[in-house]
Amino acid sequence: METCGECGARGCPELFHRLLALDHARAEPWGPLHGVSVSCFLLQHPARLPGDGGAGAREFLRAYLDGGLPAVERLVGRARRANSHRVTGQAAPGGAARPVREAPHGGFAVTIEQVAVDGTFPAEGFPERVEAWASATLAAWGHDGA
Ligand SMILES: [Zn+2]
Repeated sequence: METCGECGARGCPELFHRLLALDHARAEPWGPLHGVSVSCFLLQHPARLPGDGGAGAREFLRAYLDGGLPAVERLVGRARRANSHRVTGQAAPGGAARPVREAPHGGFAVTIEQVAVDGTFPAEGFPERVEAWASATLAAWGHDGA
C-alpha cells in the first residue's frame, strides 16, 4: 500500500471509500458521524478543500468536539436554513470571513489509518476514534480561537 503524501496514512483512498460506503448505509455508528469523518478527511487533504480553505470543515469539527452530535446537528440546521446543501465548503453562516490559513502538510497524530484499525472501521470504539481524529486534525491546523 502506498503512503499518502498528504495525510501520511497507508492506503488512504481505499480506506476513505470504505468509510463512505459505511456512512452511506446510514448504519450506526458511522452514518451519524459522516459529516465529521468527511471534514477530518478533507482537512487532512488540503488539496481537496473547497474555496473557503476549510473554514467550514473546521467549524464543523469544533462544534463536534465542543458539543457532540447535537451541536453538529444544530450547525447543519443553520446551514440548511442558509439555503445550502453543503456544510463544508461555505463560509460560517452569518460569520465574518476568516483569514485563510496555511494548511498543514502531514504531521497528524491520528489519520484515517488509525480510525480504520484493521481496515474495516470496527463499530466498537468508532466514535472515540473519530473524536481523536477530529482533535488531531484541528491541532495540526492550529486553533482559530473562535
Ligand atoms: Zn491521505
